[in-house]
Formats: sequence, structure tokens, C-alpha cells
Amino acid sequence: MTRLLIVGPQGSGKGTQGVRIAQAFGIPAISTGDVFRAAVAAGTELGEQVKAIIEAGDLVSDELTSAVVRDRLSHADAQGGFLLDGYPRNLTQVMHLEEFLEGRDESLDAVIELSVPRDESIARLSLRAQEQGRTDDTEEVIANRLAIYERETAPILGVYGTRGIVDAVDGVGSLDEITDRIVASLEARGLARPAAA
Ligand code: AMP
Repeated sequence: MTRLLIVGPQGSGKGTQGVRIAQAFGIPAISTGDVFRAAVAAGTELGEQVKAIIEAGDLVSDELTSAVVRDRLSHADAQGGFLLDGYPRNLTQVMHLEEFLEGRDESLDAVIELSVPRDESIARLSLRAQEQGRTDDTEEVIANRLAIYERETAPILGVYGTRGIVDAVDGVGSLDEITDRIVASLEARGLARPAAA
């Protein structure tokens, strides 16, 4: 049972690495950004609520986001562990998550901090904007999102750092190199991958 969180600025590659690590550990990767984008695309009530916020690069309210995550973590596939990507994103969300996990007698095993220099993040985001045409990847929105990261998300690493569960991993390199680095740091904590089927 492995419960993980991956944290990094937009453009750090945390989404891609999150999926790879979740696969390696046989757990679902739960990305709040993906959940919200899917809801917008499907035109659900949740999608209607968050569409304008996401397009401006602002954050959805803590209450709504935490409710969405609690719901997702209650699905059967998340009972044997999970990897969270993009949540918690500020100290209030850390509190919400902790309350929820404590109620299940659970806690996070490790927090992967993927670090990438600011220039590299911006270059990767601009490329993704061109390739995927994401409406939340304009230059102004990118700058807004990076500022929010520095101000609100970076402090959560302080909280988890005092618990000794943060693994800082260099996010520059090939996809395979970075995955190997993350797996090695998790294994060094005694978090075992399931035997290959
Ligand atoms: P992401 O793909 O993680 O960058 O998320 C895309 C957008 O979804 C963000 O810019 C926010 O508007 C929203 N979002 C994702 N996760 C959260 C969260 N934990 N709290 C609030 N808003 C979020």
C-alpha cells in the first residue's frame, strides 16, 4: 500500500512522471487538473462551476477541490494506495487531506518534489501550449500559475518536510532517467513496487 503525492511547478513534468510512478507501484494516479478538465469537456455541473477559473489559471475553491478528491479517494481502486498529483496545493488543502486520511487511519508515505528551474518550466509550458492548444497555457496565465505555486504550494513542502517524507528529485533529464531517480528514492524509503506480473 503506497500513498504518494507528487509536487512541482507547472511544466516540471509531474503529470507525466506521476502516471509512470503510479504504474510502477500499481496504484491510480489522481490528478485534480485532469478531473477538472474532464468535467469541463463533458459539460457536467462541476465543469460549469470551474471552467472560468481554470481558464484564468486561478485556483478552484479549497472546499470544492477537497470534496472532489475525497470522492475520488473513496473509489475502490484507491483503497490500496494512490498517487496524488496537483492536490493538496496549499496549506488549507493539506489540512483537509490530513483530516480525511486520519479518519481512515492512513497517511502519506512520501512526497516527491520534482524540481525544475523556472526558465525550463516556462519553456516546456510554452511548447505544450503550441502543441496542445491548452487555453490555460498563455504566457500571462503561465506566469500567474508559477507565482501561485511559489506563494501557496511551495509552503506545503515545509509541512511534509518536518515529517521527513519529502524526496527532492532533479526534474531535468530524459523521462526514463527521471522516473528511475524517483523510483530509487522511493525504494530507499522501503516503499516496494509490486512484483512484475
Ligand atoms: P493542473 O493541471 O494541475 O495545473 O491544474 C489545472 C487547473 O485546475 C489549475 O490551474 C486550477 O485552476 C485547477 N486545480 C487543479 N488542482 C487544484 C487544486 N488542488 N486546488 C485548486 N485548483 C486546482
